[in-house]
Amino acid sequence: MYLASISEGVVSKKIKTFNFCGMGEGLLDKDLPLFIKKAKSIADEVQLITNGALLNNELSLALIDAGLDNIRISLQGLNADDYFRVCGVKLDFENFRKNIKFLYENKKQCTVCLKIIEGIDGVTYRQEDLLAVFGSICDVILTERAIRLQQGTAQLQDGTLYSSQTHEVQVCFLPFYRMYISANGDVLCGSDAIIVGNLLENTFSEVWQGKKLNDLWILQLSGKRAEHPPCSTCSFPNYLYTEYNDIDECRELLLAKYRAQYPSITHQ
Ligand code: SF4
Repeated sequence: MYLASISEGVVSKKIKTFNFCGMGEGLLDKDLPLFIKKAKSIADEVQLITNGALLNNELSLALIDAGLDNIRISLQGLNADDYFRVCGVKLDFENFRKNIKFLYENKKQCTVCLKIIEGIDGVTYRQEDLLAVFGSICDVILTERAIRLQQGTAQLQDGTLYSSQTHEVQVCFLPFYRMYISANGDVLCGSDAIIVGNLLENTFSEVWQGKKLNDLWILQLSGKRAEHPPCSTCSFPNYLYTEYNDIDECRELLLAKYRAQYPSITHQ
């Protein structure tokens, strides 16, 4: 599916970021460097989110040579005991850290970002401990909060991924800047709740300019998110909110522009 979604002509102009992420672990695929190289041909920036457990020197060099711009490694702790408590695996932590160090020392154009989730079982990490273990072998290190992302998932903490302050979003911003491609080719709105196309049937550009997605934009900008299932019960925009993706205040301005650009859209 990666190959189908990245093949030539799949986009009419370059997309901003191609992100290998979501369900599953990208490093399990031995062809990942090949896919990254292909993704670079259609995107300004290629990013990989990984748990980093399968990194080794050879693979790190292959990822960098393929043109990877940003690698985000999801950490589960600061030592082997943390990893066993959180994941139930016995990780060779020293080797894990050594592999990240090699990646960082050979990174060339690639930004190495490490992130760790706080709040699982109430565990937090002191900034000085984080920096002591990983500060010298990454460009960026950040903490995220363990929160409920979907209805039905046990609530861990209130607030957003980045802040303890709750924010109720009027316009879901997700379908305006990202499309999530699942393993069967389905193109999703930002969560897995709405399918707006399938890359086995249409190109990336056709889906982006297609009626299903265009209708979803107008619905959001019309302020009707709360009336429309499954958006009405979806928490994604509330939890992923930051001041940088907030488009509530320019909703009406954008609505006029989108209506002018896509006159065939049905939602009023
Ligand atoms: S509110 Fe949820 S279901 Fe609706 S468009 Fe946003 S991410 Fe998709």
